[in-house]
Amino acid sequence: MKSKSIIVLGAGISGLATAALLAKAGNQVTVIEGSSWIGGKSKRIIVDGQRMDTGPALVTFPGVWQEFIRRYDLLGNQDKKAIEIAPITFEPLAEVGEYFYKGDKCLLPVEQGNKWHEPWARFEKIHGKLDQEITTLLTNTSMSPKAVPAVSKLVSNYGIRLTTKSYLDGLKWLPEGLKEVISIHTLNAGVAPESTLALFATMPAVMASQKVLVPVGGVNEIPLTLEKLARHAGVEIVMGEKAIAISKNKVKTESREYQAEIIISSLDAKVTDRLLGKSTNESGRKMSCSGVAIYAVLDQDLPAGTKTHSVIMPDDPGALHKALGDKKVPKESMVFVNYYQAGHIYPNSKSTVAVLITAPADGKHYGIDSEFAKAELERVSKVMGLPKNIKEYFSSFEVLDPEYFSGWGATGGALYGEARKIWQSGPLHTPKHSSIVRPWLWRVGASTHPGGGIPAVLGGSLIATEKLLRRLGV
Ligand SMILES: Cc1cc2nc3c(=O)[nH]c(=O)nc-3n(C[C@H](O)[C@H](O)[C@H](O)COP(=O)(O)OP(=O)(O)OC[C@H]3O[C@@H](n4cnc5c(N)ncnc54)[C@H](O)[C@@H]3O)c2cc1C
Repeated sequence: MKSKSIIVLGAGISGLATAALLAKAGNQVTVIEGSSWIGGKSKRIIVDGQRMDTGPALVTFPGVWQEFIRRYDLLGNQDKKAIEIAPITFEPLAEVGEYFYKGDKCLLPVEQGNKWHEPWARFEKIHGKLDQEITTLLTNTSMSPKAVPAVSKLVSNYGIRLTTKSYLDGLKWLPEGLKEVISIHTLNAGVAPESTLALFATMPAVMASQKVLVPVGGVNEIPLTLEKLARHAGVEIVMGEKAIAISKNKVKTESREYQAEIIISSLDAKVTDRLLGKSTNESGRKMSCSGVAIYAVLDQDLPAGTKTHSVIMPDDPGALHKALGDKKVPKESMVFVNYYQAGHIYPNSKSTVAVLITAPADGKHYGIDSEFAKAELERVSKVMGLPKNIKEYFSSFEVLDPEYFSGWGATGGALYGEARKIWQSGPLHTPKHSSIVRPWLWRVGASTHPGGGIPAVLGGSLIATEKLLRRLGV
């Protein structure tokens, strides 16, 4: 193969993974990142001397990471294995989380003795072992021969019930409350269970049976590991240089112009479109959700027994989905509470908590004392049975809100960009990594996989680089 010059826009997980693979295969790769940090949506912050990784908190489908490492090791110069260049350890959490819904609470997997244990065990038996099939689809295009058995196994599982909601509604033996606990996970793709494929119902069962993982040191260890692998393969990473225009084989930044045979964008889809000079009127479009995320250092631990990951659901999930779809503040939201005691996962001397409140993608600023955040913090404290408002445990904190997310991501701070059509909501669709109109431009990560998180963007990088390397003759 003749080495190509390649520019990758964005040093988030997908940009770095793509750059690492392409450089390992012998290409000359430069990553251009507009901000000052590595990791994009996964940003490490230090509050009161304590480390907290913002953005993604849990890693699912670890087979996708293993497949990335396998392919990295196989490409080009094999002087050192990835594990020697940048070791990373993933720690499984004891449970996916503790879920609170309308006065009921359960762990996932639902514990013995809980009224939902038996129906959950039945549900998990059907769905919990589909991780292999989903991992195959996340790492191979759905057109590939490898994907055919996986697609047919998944499709035969859901029958004619296309959406998460219709599929779960069809399971008459599943209690209503447990259905809600399962379907709230579609918010991980930023949208309602009516707008996601039935496949999303499977996700919590796979997460429960495979366990969710967190890298020791925090999730930001993933992009930091990718950075090391990319640099080892010869990638040059330019930080703090924002792209302001993309044209054929050219990227214009605030300070200079770069030329390359191939340009790969990992920026949110509409950000990429704007840089291409396309009109991107999104005012009337349905967007996925945003968040008000409070990262706090505690001066006192939460009560004994508080789980690492808690999910406080709204009494009326339908009303939440509607409000988010209308870009309105919901009466009650879905809130994740991620609690790390001193020394657990992070090398911290104090305990920390991240309270992640699902919010409309309205681009607005929400402080800790905004009406919305205040009401949700009060509700969370009450529902979790804390003896005082969770705010009173905080010694220092930082808040990230839709205004922050919209600063460099999708319009309104939508975490997963525009809400996609239902058939584009899972790994069964084939995203457009390239087009015949602009054969020099490729898209990965947030640009093609708005929902789905780390496995989707990492798997998308694997699929896109495989296609690109094939086109380049490798
Ligand atoms: C609050 C939150 C919670 C989440 N929770 C989870 C979770 O628990 N598990 C999970 O798997 N996933 C989760 N996700 C999703 C996951 O974080 C993303 O899917 C993933 O990080 C996207 O990576 P990416 O590289 O594709 O995009 P990004 O991380 O968005 O990277 C794009 C990069 O491009 C840069 N950029 C933007 N504009 C320009 C420009 N003009 N010029 C140059 N650079 C530019 C950005 O600064 C950024 O670094 C969460 C996301 C958020 C925000």
